[in-house]
Amino acid sequence: MSLLKRMVETPLYIDIRKGALNDLASVLADQRISAGGHFAIVMSKSGKDKFSEQIKKSAPNADLFISPGNSLQDATKLADDLKSKKYDAIVGVGGGRVIDLCKYVATKLEVPMISVATNLAHDGIASPVSILEDKNSRGSFGVNAPLAVVIDLDVVKLAPNRFLKAGIGDVFSNLSAVKDWELATKVNGEKIDGLAASMARISAEALLGRPDSIGSEEFLVALSEALVLSGIAMGIAGTSRPCSGACHEISHAIDLLFPERTKPHGEQVGVGALFATFLRDGFDSFQELGFALLQHDLPISHIDLGFSDEEFGQVIKSAPTTRPDRFTILEHLNLDDKQIKEKISEFNEALKSINFN
Ligand SMILES: [Zn+2]
Repeated sequence: MSLLKRMVETPLYIDIRKGALNDLASVLADQRISAGGHFAIVMSKSGKDKFSEQIKKSAPNADLFISPGNSLQDATKLADDLKSKKYDAIVGVGGGRVIDLCKYVATKLEVPMISVATNLAHDGIASPVSILEDKNSRGSFGVNAPLAVVIDLDVVKLAPNRFLKAGIGDVFSNLSAVKDWELATKVNGEKIDGLAASMARISAEALLGRPDSIGSEEFLVALSEALVLSGIAMGIAGTSRPCSGACHEISHAIDLLFPERTKPHGEQVGVGALFATFLRDGFDSFQELGFALLQHDLPISHIDLGFSDEEFGQVIKSAPTTRPDRFTILEHLNLDDKQIKEKISEFNEALKSINFN
């Protein structure tokens, strides 16, 4: 018998259901994370207005804090403020910004982090990565993955539709990210982690071809599971590679070049994934992803995101500089200005086969 095996770090507890928020303290007690309920809950101001009554009932011994912001300085200061209280765990209740802040704070304090998602806009819910603002840009920091993940369907249903749909775009972008990873393996000899790649791809395939969307509770469960599994795939890989390729480089370039005009992350990476798929794969894959995005009323082009061809050209040109260590179809083709212009006009033509409006 082979003695070779691998240790896979996953959350101890994943709870996706209606009413999950009401059982927060008992879940932490049952899982031996916090027997007496002495933990810190960090929420956004709007989250506190909406959910603090409900949370106080379910976790009366916990202390509630308003998230100070999403910068590295905010996270460092919050960790310093909470240090002396010796909490059993840090619970982040909110969207990506609050969860990323809390992952960083919990890692600094060396205590477990519990991720309670109030929307499904991104795949950071269970990932070992925190995106924090750092000196006018956004830095990606490796942190401990959440020890437990709680998604209350009654809560996420209250999120604006746009913040539920964006998560679909983030999950679909896995298809393109995995293809970029495979390309890097073939062309550059980069090592691929088969388990992480499978989990990222299967998460996206679980949503492909489903007839329903965010109006259906079953779909919200599938989307939640896909986002959680994507996060675990990143944990297994030890990097965001399974869920982030040219699709994410394009989105990061939009964030850097046009910070005042950004759209939800999942919308941007969905368009990035479709453009990367156009550059890299056959027409069938391009159409499949394009139709899938359209089915959920997600943007399929830079024009839908509010950018001209020229602006998108600037985005494509600078995208590779956002992740210098990552090899994707953009680094592989290394397009010059003229070629970028041609590819964008071919992309616009190809989109006509998807968009009949
Ligand atoms: Zn993403």
